[in-house]
Order: sequence, then structure tokens, then C-alpha cells
Amino acid sequence: MFSTIKPVQGTQTVALSDAVGRIVASNVVAPVNLPPFRASAMDGYALRKADLEQHPQATFRVVGESLAGHPFTGHIKNRECVRVFTGALVPDDCDQVYLQEQTDLLEDAVRFTGAMPEQSYIRGIGHDIVAGTLLSEPGHQLNAFDTGHLAAAGITDVVVQRKVRVGVFSTGDELVEPGTPPELLKAGQIYDSNRFTVVSLLARAPCEVTNYGALADNPEAVQTALKQASQACDVLITSGGVSVGDADFVTDAIASLGSLGFWRLNLKPGKPLAFGQIDKCYLFGLPGNPVSTIVTLLMVALPAISFMAGHPPEQPLCVNATLTSPISHAPGRMEFQRGIYTTHATGLEVAVTGDQSSNRLSTFSGANCFIEVPKTSGNLEIGSTVRVLPFNGLLG
Ligand code: AMP
Ligand code: MG
Repeated sequence: MFSTIKPVQGTQTVALSDAVGRIVASNVVAPVNLPPFRASAMDGYALRKADLEQHPQATFRVVGESLAGHPFTGHIKNRECVRVFTGALVPDDCDQVYLQEQTDLLEDAVRFTGAMPEQSYIRGIGHDIVAGTLLSEPGHQLNAFDTGHLAAAGITDVVVQRKVRVGVFSTGDELVEPGTPPELLKAGQIYDSNRFTVVSLLARAPCEVTNYGALADNPEAVQTALKQASQACDVLITSGGVSVGDADFVTDAIASLGSLGFWRLNLKPGKPLAFGQIDKCYLFGLPGNPVSTIVTLLMVALPAISFMAGHPPEQPLCVNATLTSPISHAPGRMEFQRGIYTTHATGLEVAVTGDQSSNRLSTFSGANCFIEVPKTSGNLEIGSTVRVLPFNGLLG
């Protein structure tokens, strides 16, 4: 997949306040030093170190004060000092800040009672950020920390990759829009849930989502809709209609309108997943069972969308945990079961969320991770060590 798909072209400039989640498109260089002046790291007194070394017992006259935002601009003479506070400018004459906790305060003077400090307690110019350094580079997905970092350097906007245009469909004659009163549901009908989870899971990804609604199980309708949407989108995501049933038309539609990259993965749930292309648009035909839809979206489609958005591929966060409930699994396919991990002094423990059938959205209730069951694995006993993929690592 990664060897087929290509990142989208095009950039835009966005305000820092809108930049979280976006992918940086050109180098961000610090225009200023931070701090831009020598700043005190402590509340205390600024003085000349040599002066104090020569007169350790002397009283030093306090000739002024320097507060954050209100610098002292004068000069000091021998046995003089300036009251300084954290973040305030340290006067040019001074090369030492002495902690206020180690002083005796007299009328308008102080005596320094502690040992000679081993450090200056002065933050040099550029102690945090040096002007001209690279704060962020292409491919990086901006996070909340970055916004503070860039704001601290006075940057207000960033050049980012344009968003990936993603169109979302569900398919199935049985689907009814939530909001339809339950008494109006006809026999065999269910509410469409996949489009809601898919659209919501895409909300944090660097993409612009168009919700195209539900498609009927009709080959012409599926083809017409996919063809049309493929002209407007970089990626289309459908759910349902990719299995081997008589009403499964998505795979054929992709193959006849464009090309099928692969169909079916050795994955549980999610086996019928189809991936293909119509002109420049990539298609993910996700399986319809709601759990399969989510697993394939998170594990396959989202990483692809992130790559198209300009983010280099990366492995999801995964940690070891001890099973506190047994897992039943027959060797053959890799499986992602839904679990709840808890943190203990001895490490992580994880339990499965009950019957793991792929139609059961309730397996996601309270779940905070996938439990990865290797394809060669058989049943796993309580006490086994398993790999866990926390959802917060998968959601970006
Ligand atoms: P399919 O692959 O189309 O046969 O769908 C597999 C199962 O998933 C069937 O039980 C469908 O009713 C169900 N399903 C398909 N799409 C949706 C959807 N959008 N919302 C809820 N269930 C769905
Ligand atoms: Mg269907």
C-alpha cells in the first residue's frame, strides 16, 4: 500500500491556533532567541560574583529591582546588588544571582548567608531557543506542545500540507438513518452506525471529510456514486459490500472502474478488506461488520491517509501486558481483540471485553486498547504476556 500511494500535493498557511494535527510542509525556523535577554532563574539578588567572593561577610546595598517585564536599567557599584525575580532581566553588570532564601534582609541591604552558589542562576540568551534553529520540519504532525514552542518564538502561522479529501459511504439496503423512529424500522432494517464511527475516527486525522450517505445494494448505483466521488476526493472509504455475498458490489465496482490493489487480508476481524484505485483516488472497501470496519480503518486506512497527508509511516505504540482473562483464538489469522488495560505497580494487566464477534460494537464499550493475537497463536491462558495497542496511540 505504501509503495502505491503518494502524498497529496499542495500546501496552505494556517494560523497557529488551527495548526494542531496538521503536517508541516516547510522548515519552521526560530526568528528570535528565547529568552531574548539574560533572565534570572530564581527570586533573589543579582550581583557581581567577584565582588561577593572578595567580601563574603559584607552587606550589599539593594540599589533597585528587576521584575519580569520591568527591567532594572541602571548600573551597580561594589557591594551593591539588585533585587531580581524569576524571568526578570539580569542587569548587564551582574553575573550571579543569589537565592533570596539564603539572605538576611536588612533595611535597604542584604547579607548573603549561604555558601557561594555553584551555578549562576542566570538563563543565558537563547537558553531555550536559539534564533535560527529549526523548530519543526516537513513531515512533522503539529501537536499542542508545538503550538506553545512556536508561539514562544513569536511565530503566528505555519505552512502545512493541504488536508487529504476523504469521502465516506456506507452500503446496504438494510441501513436506515439514525433518527428514524424505532417503530418505523421495517423487518430486516438496522441503523447505519459505520458512517458515524468512520467519520468520527477521521475527525482528528489531517483530512477533510465528505459524508456521502448510504448506498443501495445495486451495482449501477454503487459504480455511479464511486466514480463521481472519486473525481472529488483523494480517498474513498466505504463499508460493507466487499464480502462474497450476492449483494456485495463494491469490490467489482472498484475493479471495473479502476484497479484492485488487494482484496482480503489475513486479519481478524477485517478479512474482506478491499484496497484499490480509481484514477488518482484510492479506495478502501472496509468490511461491513462494525468491528471489522473499525479495525481496518484504524490499522490500514488511517495510516494510509496519514501517509498521504505527508506524515512518514510509523509503527503504532505497543506495550506488553499480562492477561487477566483467557483468549480463545485458532491459529491462522492475526487478530485484534478489544481489551481494557489497567496500570499496576507491577506493570499492565489486560482483560478482553467479552464475546469478540465482529458484529458486536459492544466489544468497544469501555475498551481502551487492542490486544494483538499473533496468527500462529492458539488459545491464551490467564497470565500470558500479550502485546497491547492503546487506542490513544492509534488515534494520533
Ligand atoms: P456486508 O459485508 O455488507 O454483508 O455487511 C456485513 C454485516 O455488517 C451485515 O450484518 C451488515 O448488516 C452490517 N453492516 C454493514 N454496513 C453497516 C453499517 N453501515 N452499519 C451497521 N452495520 C452494517
Ligand atoms: Mg451489505
